[in-house]
Amino acid sequence: MENKINYHKEALKIIEGLKGRKPRLLAHVCCGPCSTYPLKFLHDHFDVTVIFHNSNIYPEREYVRRYQVLEEFVSRFNIDFSADVKIVKTAYENDEFNKHLAPFGDEPEGGARCLVCYRKRMDESMKYAEENGYEFFTTVMTISPHKDSQAINKIGQGLSKKYPKVKYFHSDFKKSDGFLEAGKMCQKYCLYRQAYCGCRYSYEAMLKRPPTSNK
Ligand code: SF4
Repeated sequence: MENKINYHKEALKIIEGLKGRKPRLLAHVCCGPCSTYPLKFLHDHFDVTVIFHNSNIYPEREYVRRYQVLEEFVSRFNIDFSADVKIVKTAYENDEFNKHLAPFGDEPEGGARCLVCYRKRMDESMKYAEENGYEFFTTVMTISPHKDSQAINKIGQGLSKKYPKVKYFHSDFKKSDGFLEAGKMCQKYCLYRQAYCGCRYSYEAMLKRPPTSNK
């Protein structure tokens, strides 16, 4: 079996190498709840901008709602942490995005469809980072225990070859009580927590579940 890499330790090594410098970092964020603890962690070490690039989300009203929750959270975070986190929002193109997911529509969550979904959002976000002079790029998706942090970090490492001007910031935000902290912050900020991951396939799977299992 393949040895798992502790990407939280890798993150700490990168931070140590900064020697107190606070470079510009672009963080791909999928929603408000998943941004909570990662933003707190990143803000201590970087000049952070977040990019909401998530055309996977279906239907559009859910996309709009998740963005609004993020926007409100970032605005309150900036006040509470004396921060200046900026937000970049890209166009919503669900039909186009879904063409890439459709061949894997029958896959269970966490399978091949999700790898395509992680990669596409990270690739296009990292391209934005390179075009706009960010020194680092990361994604907050590793906060989720439902997402494959090993795969996400490998995708990020691969993309740093495609976009050589940007350094990929490894992460496993759920580690070291990160997931616990995220839960506490969601409660503190009363954030809406969605009942499904995002795409139309996860939405349809959610509709089929008994109501009590929608958490
Ligand atoms: S379940 Fe989540 S990660 Fe997987 S394809 Fe759907 S939106 Fe993307």
